[in-house]
Amino acid sequence: MGAICQFCDLYALKKWLPTQLFDGHQFWPSQTVLVTDEAGTIVDLVHGADAGPGVQHLEGLLCPGFVNVHCHLELSHLKNAIAPGQGLPAFILGILAKRGAPEETMLAAMEAAVAAMQAAGIVAVGDIANLALSAQVKAHHPEMAWHHFIETSGWNPVLAAPRFAAAQAVEAQTLALMPGALSSLNPHAPYSVSPALWQMLQPHFPGKTITLHHQETAAENELFENGRGGLVEMYQKLGIDHGHFEPTGTRSAAAMAPLMQKAQHRIWVHNSFTTAQDLHDLAPTEQDFFCLCPTANQYIENTLPPVELFREQGVNLVLGTDSLASNHQLSIWAEIQTLRNAFPHLPLAETLQWATINGAKALQMDDQLGSFAKGKRPGLVCIHQDKVCRIL
Ligand SMILES: [Zn+2]
Repeated sequence: MGAICQFCDLYALKKWLPTQLFDGHQFWPSQTVLVTDEAGTIVDLVHGADAGPGVQHLEGLLCPGFVNVHCHLELSHLKNAIAPGQGLPAFILGILAKRGAPEETMLAAMEAAVAAMQAAGIVAVGDIANLALSAQVKAHHPEMAWHHFIETSGWNPVLAAPRFAAAQAVEAQTLALMPGALSSLNPHAPYSVSPALWQMLQPHFPGKTITLHHQETAAENELFENGRGGLVEMYQKLGIDHGHFEPTGTRSAAAMAPLMQKAQHRIWVHNSFTTAQDLHDLAPTEQDFFCLCPTANQYIENTLPPVELFREQGVNLVLGTDSLASNHQLSIWAEIQTLRNAFPHLPLAETLQWATINGAKALQMDDQLGSFAKGKRPGLVCIHQDKVCRIL
């Protein structure tokens, strides 16, 4: 029997006293103790003077497990396959040319990527899937929370019906392996989904979190404004018929806002070229989440999203790693470092909130994850000298 009080012994409680404690929303005063059960369920936050015996000191910052809102696990085998800095159209051409690989290669890369995310303190992932293959890996890791974003694309309207059917099949195969899992059918991007495909997707939006790659390249706005630019050149290289498309004469945000309207939560991913006018046109509510993937933006377009604009407008921000095709690692803490290096005045507390409770809300997982609220089991992550360690 250890030197712990009767109460602790009875309920096998653990008491954590870190150097700094962030609960998903804010930092707590020093000497605050987090009390959990052995499995990591949050019991209480108390002052050290009231914590009784058995308090364990932790050197570093203690926070809830990180939520990676945007990842493509199925592209994990493409690490270092595509040279950085070429812009999005060239990046997409690279992905399409290289994404095929033996299943064993892809599965092994995905397994390694999941292990790396867990080592980086990530407890939940919004994972984009065009194939059912990644479901095999995700089903092996029920200790991670997954939101399966089944993704579809097809710029030629003739492809709408077969592409939609294929996405439904991927979702069915995914849910067969993980019954009851969170999943939705998602449009890939404004420049890759035809009106006919949007019409098939939209009846499935109510009640769901829907994600859309958005304004990742200036060429997307150019396409909608005047029907020209790098994406049109990309269609030509791919032999994709572009004849159906009529420019809206607006930027892409104005064109997308009505199409995404029926979703329960909307996750706008990247937003590197989003302006104040775009935010006005999107008219974001509490149901809108803007996902920043800064390291991928640097990798692909050598740019960063307008973080200060989003902060000024008070919109919900969340973080994603994107895939190993456009990132050297899958770490939300590394994304925070990228942002804080570029925007030195960015408060750490805000970025941690994006990485924890905001991400959990976006993925509809905040009943269990994202904060140290009583009864949740959000994972305990400790950061010391830039090293991330999962405690529970
Ligand atoms: Zn992506």
